[in-house]
Amino acid sequence: THTKPDISREKSAALYEKSKKYFPGGVNSPVRAFKSVYGTPLFIQKGDGCFIWDADDNQFIDFCASWGPLILGHNHAKIREKVAEVMQNGMSFGAPTALENELAELIIKNNRFVEKIRFTSSGTEAVMSAIRLARGYTGRDKIVKFEGCYHGHSDSLLVKAGSGLVTFGETSSAGVPKAFAEETIVIGLNDKTALTQVFEQFKDQIAAVIIEGIPANNGLLIQDKEYIEFLREICSTNGTLLIFDEVITGFRVGFEGAAAYYGITPDIVTYGKIIGGGLPVGMYGASAEIMGHISPDGGVYQAGTLSGNPVAMAAGIATLTELSKSGFYKDLNAKAQEFVESIQRFASARNYKFKVFTVGSVFWFAFIDKDKIQTAEDIDPASMEKFKVLHRELLNRGVYLGPSGYEVGFVSAAHSKIELEKAKRAIFEALDVVFAK
Ligand code: PMP
Repeated sequence: THTKPDISREKSAALYEKSKKYFPGGVNSPVRAFKSVYGTPLFIQKGDGCFIWDADDNQFIDFCASWGPLILGHNHAKIREKVAEVMQNGMSFGAPTALENELAELIIKNNRFVEKIRFTSSGTEAVMSAIRLARGYTGRDKIVKFEGCYHGHSDSLLVKAGSGLVTFGETSSAGVPKAFAEETIVIGLNDKTALTQVFEQFKDQIAAVIIEGIPANNGLLIQDKEYIEFLREICSTNGTLLIFDEVITGFRVGFEGAAAYYGITPDIVTYGKIIGGGLPVGMYGASAEIMGHISPDGGVYQAGTLSGNPVAMAAGIATLTELSKSGFYKDLNAKAQEFVESIQRFASARNYKFKVFTVGSVFWFAFIDKDKIQTAEDIDPASMEKFKVLHRELLNRGVYLGPSGYEVGFVSAAHSKIELEKAKRAIFEALDVVFAK
C-alpha cells in the first residue's frame, strides 16, 4: 500500500504551456483543465478499444469514454469504416440527406417516447431547444430545474438554487442576465414538498420541469421511481411539460434510456453523446403533436448549419446499429455490475468509507458513508480530497477516470474481462493508498 511514482507528463506539460497561450485555461471545456485533481492535464494522442495513450505514451484503461459517448470503446472499426465511407462523398451540404432518415428510423422505431425528432450538434443545443419548444407550446415562461442536474450551458439553465425552499434561481455564471435566471426556478431533488409548493406558487406559469432522467452530473443521484411518478403526475395536472434530459442516460442505461428504466413517459426528451458515436450530435424529440410546433411547421424557431450533417449521422448510425442488437445492454450491464460489485465488496471488507453508486454501465465512486445519495446536498465537498488522491494513484497505475470526483465513470463494450480485472487491482491498490493516509 504505497504510492507509485508519478507518470511522466513532460510532453503533456509542454503542450499545456502552449495551449494556455491559445485558450482560456489552456482548454476548450473547463473540466479538462484538471483543476480539481493533481497535476497538469494529460493530452491524449490516441484511443483504441478501452485504452487511451497520452502524449508521453502512457497507456490507460479509460473509464471516461469522452464523457460518455464511447459506449463501444475508442476507434471502433464499424464506426470508423462507416464514417470513412460517407466522407468519400463530402462532409456537409446543409441540405437533407438519406442518412438523417436512416438514423431517425433507428431511433424512432426502437423508442416508444419519440414520434418526431430534430437533430442538433450538441447536448446543450438540444436542451436549449427543448426548453424553447416547451415555452412555445405552453405559452408560459417559467421552468423548473433541480439543484444537482446539469443541462448544458445555455443561459436559462446556468442557474443554481437561491436560498430558501422555493426561490428564483441565481445565475451560476457571470454573463447570464438576472432576468433570465428569474424565469428558472431551482429546487432540490427528491423533495415532493418543494415540488408541490412550486406549483402552488407559480400556478399556470410553469412551461416545463426539466430533470436528468437519472441525475449523473453531480455524482450519481438515483431517484426513487415513486418520486419521478409524482413529478410526472404533478406536471400533467398542471399542464406543464416534463422534459427528460437523457444526454447521458439515453442509449446508456438501455436503448430507451431512463424513461424506460422508470417506465415513465416524458413529454420531451433530449439525447446527446452516444447518439453521435463520438461525433457532435444532439437531439430532442416528442410526440408529433408537440414537435409540430417547431419551425418550419410551427412557430418555435430552431436551426443549425451542421445539424444532421452526414459524417456525424454516419457515426450515429454505426453506433446505434450495434446497440440495437439483442443482448447488447444485458451483456454490458452485467459486466459493469460485476466490476463495480467487486470493488464495493473490497472496500466494504476493509471498512473503507467508500461507496460505488451505479446504474447499468454508469458508476460513481463516492467517499461517503451513505447507502443512498439523492440530492446534491448529501455530497460532502471535503470527500473530494480523497478523490484527488485516488485519481492520481489510478493514473499512476494505468487507469483513467474523468478529472473530477463529481463525474461518473462509464464501462464500455470494449472493456474485456481481463482489462476490468487489471483495473480492479489498480483500484484496490489505490483505495488502500487513499485510506492509509
Ligand atoms: N445535458 C446533460 C445531462 C449532460 O450531461 C450534458 C453534458 N455533459 C449536456 C446536457 C450538455 O451536452 P454538451 O456538452 O454536448 O453540450
